[in-house]
Amino acid sequence: MDERAFYKESQTTKPATLSCPYCRESNTYELKWLLRRKVNQLPRNADERDRAKFAKAASYMVLMDDKTACKNPRCRRPFEVSGIRTTAFLTD
Ligand SMILES: [Zn+2]
Repeated sequence: MDERAFYKESQTTKPATLSCPYCRESNTYELKWLLRRKVNQLPRNADERDRAKFAKAASYMVLMDDKTACKNPRCRRPFEVSGIRTTAFLTD
């Protein structure tokens, strides 16, 4: 069974403070995240192995943006998002 059957996917944005590697200016950027929330019940066709995997599965989110454009009007260069965690478990 595809692991995607364990989750309901949605998207959200969260602010992160990033500094541009070119102009060194720090700004808050709204980054896009993919939320994967664990569903309450496994589909009926799940087998033993699916059930074991499902028991260990937890809701989490993955960063979707790997690049952003600098907000400094004198710079505006695109740079890679780094220095922040790109996956996180969801506790709610
Ligand atoms: Zn910049």
